[in-house]
Amino acid sequence: MNIPFRQRLSYRQAQYTLIIVVLLGIVASVVQIAFDWSSEKNGVSERVDEYVKPLQSSAVQAAYELDGILAHRVVQGLNQIAPIYSVALYDELGNALAQQQRGQYKINGQWALALLDDRSQVFSFPLFYDDGTQVGLLRISVDTAMLYQDFYRRSWRLLLFGILRNLVIGLILLGLYYLMITKPLIHISGLMERLAASNNKKDRITKPVNHNEDELGLVVDTFNDLWQDRNRAERALIKRESYFRQVMEQAGEGLYLFGSSGNILDVNRQACSTLGYSREEMLTMAMPDIAPDFSTERIQELMERLSLDKQVAIESRHRCKDGRIYPIDIRATLIQLEGAPHLLTSVRDISERKQAEERIRYLAYYDSLTGLPNRSLLQDRLKQALVTAANHQHIGAVFFMDLDRFKTINDSLGHEIGDLLLQAISERIQRCLKAEDTASRLGGDEYVILAPELSTAQEKAVLNATELAEKVLEQIKKPFQISEHELFVSASIGISLFPGDGVDPSELLSQAETAMYRAKSSSDDFHFYQPQMQSKVNERLELEKDLNRALKREEFILYYQPQVDSQNHVVGAEVLLRWQHPTHGLVPPDKFIPIAEETGLIVPIGNWVLEQSCMQLCNRINTGLPQSFKRLAVNISPRQFGQGDFVEGVKALLQRYPQVVSYLELELTESMLVENVDQAIQQMRELKSLGLKFSIDDFGTGYSSLRYLKDLPLDQLKIDQSFVRDLDVDENSRAIVDTIIVMARNLKLDIIAEGVETEEELNALAQMGCLNYQGFLFARPMPGDDFSAYLNQQEAYSVADH
Ligand code: C2E
Ligand code: CA
Ligand code: CA
Repeated sequence: MNIPFRQRLSYRQAQYTLIIVVLLGIVASVVQIAFDWSSEKNGVSERVDEYVKPLQSSAVQAAYELDGILAHRVVQGLNQIAPIYSVALYDELGNALAQQQRGQYKINGQWALALLDDRSQVFSFPLFYDDGTQVGLLRISVDTAMLYQDFYRRSWRLLLFGILRNLVIGLILLGLYYLMITKPLIHISGLMERLAASNNKKDRITKPVNHNEDELGLVVDTFNDLWQDRNRAERALIKRESYFRQVMEQAGEGLYLFGSSGNILDVNRQACSTLGYSREEMLTMAMPDIAPDFSTERIQELMERLSLDKQVAIESRHRCKDGRIYPIDIRATLIQLEGAPHLLTSVRDISERKQAEERIRYLAYYDSLTGLPNRSLLQDRLKQALVTAANHQHIGAVFFMDLDRFKTINDSLGHEIGDLLLQAISERIQRCLKAEDTASRLGGDEYVILAPELSTAQEKAVLNATELAEKVLEQIKKPFQISEHELFVSASIGISLFPGDGVDPSELLSQAETAMYRAKSSSDDFHFYQPQMQSKVNERLELEKDLNRALKREEFILYYQPQVDSQNHVVGAEVLLRWQHPTHGLVPPDKFIPIAEETGLIVPIGNWVLEQSCMQLCNRINTGLPQSFKRLAVNISPRQFGQGDFVEGVKALLQRYPQVVSYLELELTESMLVENVDQAIQQMRELKSLGLKFSIDDFGTGYSSLRYLKDLPLDQLKIDQSFVRDLDVDENSRAIVDTIIVMARNLKLDIIAEGVETEEELNALAQMGCLNYQGFLFARPMPGDDFSAYLNQQEAYSVADH
């Protein structure tokens, strides 16, 4: 290392040493000079005395005798002594006998001497004769500088020699210091420097010659000891570090070291290779980049929660460079590095474990043959469904299905075919289900369907359950093609509804199972566990069966309900269907029309009604109708109207009964018109062009989608009974009826109110401008014969009117 000259120890040593020795020299000399000076000063008058003494007697004589010549010689003699520059000899009266003076000499250092004392001093010597009388006075002026000249020279010498001597001592000391301390030190530090810089780490430096036993030797020894210690520690550290590296690199897991900011500080090869990043890339990244769940906040929270050297395990996810994400298990340990907390984490890919877990869960909850939920999962879902049903007033159902004669198939065709059949069946079952439903296989040939939300109303729930059971059974009944076999299967279903009275999942299942056995032992395909449901269903099923045969057995009858105007003249009638059931008697349409709708029987039945209506009307036309009679209304069901060949059918009918065209009015409901407006308009236009009329039944209860109203080729709106019923109690109904009437007028439509039962209702309607009525107030629906009689009676009235 190169130390600047002025900071070197040797320079500063020389500097201080020299300053000190020079100052010391000066001080010592000055003290000595001061002493010298005081004795020098005291000696001045003695010296002047000595100058005067030899001539003193001559001076006394000259003064006594007033001898001018002698006086002059004395004065001259004294004036020749160098320091004396002025002499005067006076008689007793003070008259100068002789005097002499010359200029002062120039002297080296006279300025310095002037500092010390006055340059000239005057000395007076009184002159006494032998008898002791003063005869005169000798006055002498002395140049003191000449007196001190010797002292001056001496002093200078003293000063110079003092400084010089000290300098020499100082230099000698310096040399000694340098040789004994500074130079060996420089040598030692050079050795140390070279030792530190060299690559092959030698263990020691040698002592400087002749310093084996002294302090410098000790310094070197101490350094060598420290140096050895340090080298040993460094070797150990390198060994440990490489051991640590090895451990890190050979670990089968990805290892990361990161600080509280999440920045990755170290990472092993395994981590890099699994994630697809290079080590350099990784070291620029942070944990959240590769483990999306590991946000900075989470890391900090983890660090606060973890105590030092404790480990925590977390499940998380890894994101690879290619975007792939897989599950990992992270083990994090909090360690302290350079005073800051760090997390050392090991990361293991747990995809396989997760898959295994998934598989186990699957096996635990699913049937491996069909992939359907198994009994455990079913029970879970059932438990849940019971809770939700109770909370939301839903009615749900459990369907227990068992195949008939499956054992025979299995035994005769083998298990493989049996398995394939079971799979095919489960597929068909699933096709019948809604998203919220669960199909499960309990094992063998037993399937259970859970439908948690059938309806909130019991009637409807039973109906929906029946429908679902029928739908599933229908699917099952279709032939299965398994390998080369065509298989025909049937099944029995037991149904139990929930929530019942305190039933739990297993109880519900066993109820459904019981019902299934009942179905198996009866002629029914399915059976409800609850007796009252079953009787309802049975009744319905029976009606359905009977309805199938009713047309053929000619059990249907047409009833007619007259429609009148404000003068009570009959203006038309509505055809209302009745079913004369062989055992139940007259069945009202509310009971069988919905079934006919659902089963599709409404189409042939509706066609029959239409045809009968035309035929009977034709007869009446022939026998004569009252003048006021303008129309016969026939109800058309949505399903019937939606039939593709409906228009064609009507056309064909009208060709057979052309006379009825101007009378015939079809009653449609709003809902059927709205569902497929374009199609409806198209059909209505076609029929309209033949001369038919259209009326909208139950107007105001349905969609009331008034915007279509003006696009539809309509003739009449029929105000629903419910409004008529409420006219006197409900302001709202009044307003609705009022609006309907105004609107009908705007659209130039006729208006009729149905279900008019009282005079009050009639008056209210009349007041609002509705002038056509149908209802029990005027006439109830009646069989054809009665209707004929009614018409005759009307004819008689109208004839009487005229
Ligand atoms: P709808 O078309 O609204 O028929 C009017 C219903 O009101 C008839 O019931 C009739 O008896 C009843 N009614 C008439 N005046 C009054 C009254 O003043 N008070 C009360 N409370 N009721 C009155 P019905 O005959 O039981 O028919 C019920 C429904 O069955 C009909 O309602 C119609 O939607 C349907 N329907 C009847 N016959 C046929 C048909 O031939 N084809 C189709 N598709 N549906 C029909
Ligand atoms: Ca009607
Ligand atoms: Ca109606």
